[in-house]
Amino acid sequence: MCFIQLRDKGGGFLPFPNGNNSRRKERHTPQTMLQVDLHSHTLFSCCGIHTALEMLHHAKALGLNSLAITDHGLALQGRLNGNFFKRFINPVPGIRLLKGVECNLLDAPGRIDCPLEFLPYMDVVLLGLHNNIKKGLGKKRYTDMMLEALDSNPYVDIIAHPDVAGWEVAFEPVVRAAVEHGMAIELNNSKSALGGASPEETRKLILTCKRLQCPVVISSDAHAVNEIGQDRAIRVLLEELEFPEDLVINRDVSTAMAFIEQRRERKRPHRGDILTNPPAAAS
Ligand SMILES: [Zn+2]
Ligand SMILES: [Zn+2]
Repeated sequence: MCFIQLRDKGGGFLPFPNGNNSRRKERHTPQTMLQVDLHSHTLFSCCGIHTALEMLHHAKALGLNSLAITDHGLALQGRLNGNFFKRFINPVPGIRLLKGVECNLLDAPGRIDCPLEFLPYMDVVLLGLHNNIKKGLGKKRYTDMMLEALDSNPYVDIIAHPDVAGWEVAFEPVVRAAVEHGMAIELNNSKSALGGASPEETRKLILTCKRLQCPVVISSDAHAVNEIGQDRAIRVLLEELEFPEDLVINRDVSTAMAFIEQRRERKRPHRGDILTNPPAAAS
């Protein structure tokens, strides 16, 4: 049996939960919680089970600095809503609400379902393959679809879970495209923790990012409050593969925010309506 012993934020070992604190075969994670989580879902997604307020209150209680709410695009029945983007502004004091969307690739060359009318209000745009696209079409097809979509939609910031089972892509060209466009590759904790991506595929993805020096984002992809900020399944793999911490964009608050600011410029030419600040909520 292999025991994972956790460290606290100061680097010391936390006690084993069963009270036996003798040294064992030690595998450990250097960090147990994200400060900035750039991928989560609410009731506005077909699959989320909590409200935005519940997610934010829980994230604040956990000590996060920022939580991005990134509900699904229309192809997965996401209820993307102008009031959320325009009028729901940091409703919980003490935690920053980042806004975004998890877009879906569509079955037409280069097309995705990003609602461009909300782009001026978005901090982060993720793009992934989901079950609006048939499984089993082959790695070449999915890779071509992804590469075309990235070329056609350079305002995408993060390629979500490219290691997801069922829609396999070739990592080398996708990671190269991410580097070329200044995008990040997502390492998705939920997919790794719940079996949505095999450890072998995730290891290959991590090693490809390491070799090509591609920045990554660790995300919880939380669909419930208990998953917010979780990074352990990914941290174990990053440590095992000696992945450089300086390639992890959300390793701290300032690098995560610098990424968001830098990417805002990429969105500018694609926004129909140029706004630098969201308007105040209407009375
Ligand atoms: Zn997804
Ligand atoms: Zn998601």
